[in-house]
Amino acid sequence: MHPNTEQNILTAQAKAVDEQPKNTKEFIETLIHNPNDSFSVIDAKNFKIILVNRAFLNAHNVEEREVIGRPCYEISHHRSRPCEPPEHTCPLSETLRTGDPSSAVHIHYDKEGRKKYFEIKTSPIRDEKGEIHQVIHISHDITEYKKAVEALRESEDRYKRLISSVTDYIYTVTVQDGRPVATSHGPGCVAVTGYTSEEYGADPFLWYRMVYEEDRQAVLKQAEHALTGTNVTPLEHRIIHKDGTIRWVRNTPVVRKNEKEEVISYDGLISDITERKQLETHFLQAQKMETVGRLAGGVAHDFNNHLTVITGHCDLALLELHEKDPFRSHMEEIKRAADRAANLTRQLLAFSRRQVIQPKVINLNNLILNIDKMLRRIIGEDIELLTLLKTDLESVEVDPGQFEQILVNLAVNARDAMPKGGKLLIETANVELDEVYARSHVSVTPGRYVMFSMSDTGMGMTAEVREQIFEPFFTTKEKGKGTGLGLSMVYGIVKQSKGNIWVYSEPGKGTAFKIYLPWVDMPLEEVKEKRIEKELHRGSETVLVVEDQEEVRRVAVEILRRQGYNVLEASQGDEALLICEQHERPIHLMVTDVVMPRMSGPELAGRLALLHPEMKVLYMSGYTENAIVHHGVLDEGVNYIQKPFEMHGLGRMVQEVLNK
Ligand code: ADP
Ligand code: MG
Repeated sequence: MHPNTEQNILTAQAKAVDEQPKNTKEFIETLIHNPNDSFSVIDAKNFKIILVNRAFLNAHNVEEREVIGRPCYEISHHRSRPCEPPEHTCPLSETLRTGDPSSAVHIHYDKEGRKKYFEIKTSPIRDEKGEIHQVIHISHDITEYKKAVEALRESEDRYKRLISSVTDYIYTVTVQDGRPVATSHGPGCVAVTGYTSEEYGADPFLWYRMVYEEDRQAVLKQAEHALTGTNVTPLEHRIIHKDGTIRWVRNTPVVRKNEKEEVISYDGLISDITERKQLETHFLQAQKMETVGRLAGGVAHDFNNHLTVITGHCDLALLELHEKDPFRSHMEEIKRAADRAANLTRQLLAFSRRQVIQPKVINLNNLILNIDKMLRRIIGEDIELLTLLKTDLESVEVDPGQFEQILVNLAVNARDAMPKGGKLLIETANVELDEVYARSHVSVTPGRYVMFSMSDTGMGMTAEVREQIFEPFFTTKEKGKGTGLGLSMVYGIVKQSKGNIWVYSEPGKGTAFKIYLPWVDMPLEEVKEKRIEKELHRGSETVLVVEDQEEVRRVAVEILRRQGYNVLEASQGDEALLICEQHERPIHLMVTDVVMPRMSGPELAGRLALLHPEMKVLYMSGYTENAIVHHGVLDEGVNYIQKPFEMHGLGRMVQEVLNK
């Protein structure tokens, strides 16, 4: 202590002694009328109150005449006898027992029975013989303080209960001078990240490393904000769980500051939002596919008309040209290019789910076994093909031709992914997808499905690639090798068959595609083999061609005339009606476009049925027009040829319909 300070204190003490009140009674009165502490003197023999001050009366909410001469236990505790241990440790009894001053926190009740907390001090007053005859009882009201403590404890309890009931991960960062000095990790860290709090304790950089690399910058920024207590907002980012999977979390920090507005700590709540994120992504993906699909479908539709003209004229020109004609090879090249283009539009239509499908109830196992030979040819000898086909596989309703396309496309991709050979496994199974599965997979309705999967041991793909594979024209293959349409088509076909497709893949490990098709309780249907003929069909019946696109009409007319038919032509419905009215001999067949201005193909057919009941109808279209197709499925009994068609194809179809 500084010598000067010591001097000062000594002087002050001397002065205080000097200024002691001369009148002791006055001093005592001042003391006992202290407004904060209740003061009473109690008779040691019978606990009767002899003297009280104003603070006592106020605290007990009583008048002086109500208390003087009454036992203290009656007034303060509303009891009929003195308080006794162990029921009650009364400092007054304690002083009487030991003869020493005593103190305790005690509960008193005021006149209305309100509970009050007092910090109590008691001291004995002895008579000349040294016997205790009275006790001084001073009590300090700490009710407000007690209430505050209780409220705090209750809120802490509630907080603890809350913490132990959430599965989220809560961490606390202690901050000093704007820098983190310690971090504690709540028990939820195991559930969310896979690591225990001990592991975090042992490695201060574990948390940082666990954050997905691309998100680390944002996480650091958030921590910076938390340390300074400004702009603190929740952040959604990715982490790598101990099991190696990528998870999405939401990190919400809450900052605590001292009275100087300095951050002393912050608590963070980290919750796993992976499921929600996945749903969001799936949803956006589905929306994008829908939009791209509509666009692709539109383009394919227009293209098909042009391709019909190109292909048709090539076929006609080839008919004219002599075997040795030098122009022949040019025409053949054009034809091949047109075929490739037609293949492209077919894929686009399949992707956009605007292809006309003719579903049949089939058993996928049969279909797989049927094209087993072709699959083996596709994948080559270095790749081993294994099949695990479920016996008693349930039936599904799909277009068999389209499902073959799925198989071929998946197999081609698997082959490309295994340039050094490997294994290709095809599996089928009956499965039941429940509510839980449906909740985490957008667009899945719970129910019974037939599962088809194709897995390879190839190069696999990264998450980025995986997210885009179903998009048309997405390819990682070198120019000329991939079109990026294979999986788009697969996707479209699966969707159009009311199924779902999922892909599981990891770089270096391989890829598995799983397709789920709803199972149907219907008898199997017979699947006819497609015949491929190059013979030109010939006929002599009368055929009416109705098509508003002049070039398309001309080529169709020309093709049919070449095949010997007697052809009538009209560019639209009215004209066709007129021709039919004037034509007195039978018209055996009408080949008509579906959508035309003013009158649709089906409408026209309806009107003509009265004039020429013998007339059959063949629709030609490049699109799933709603007039003859519902939900992509061709109406019962409708004859249909897809544009672009070849000369042989049209000829065969016409003959087939005429012979029905
Ligand atoms: P393409 O085969 O013409 O590239 P696809 O639509 O069939 O187009 O496939 C798109 C992309 O998906 C491929 O370029 C490839 O990156 C990836 N992919 C498809 N199947 C596999 C597979 N089995 N293994 C690895 N990557 C695949
Ligand atoms: Mg492909």
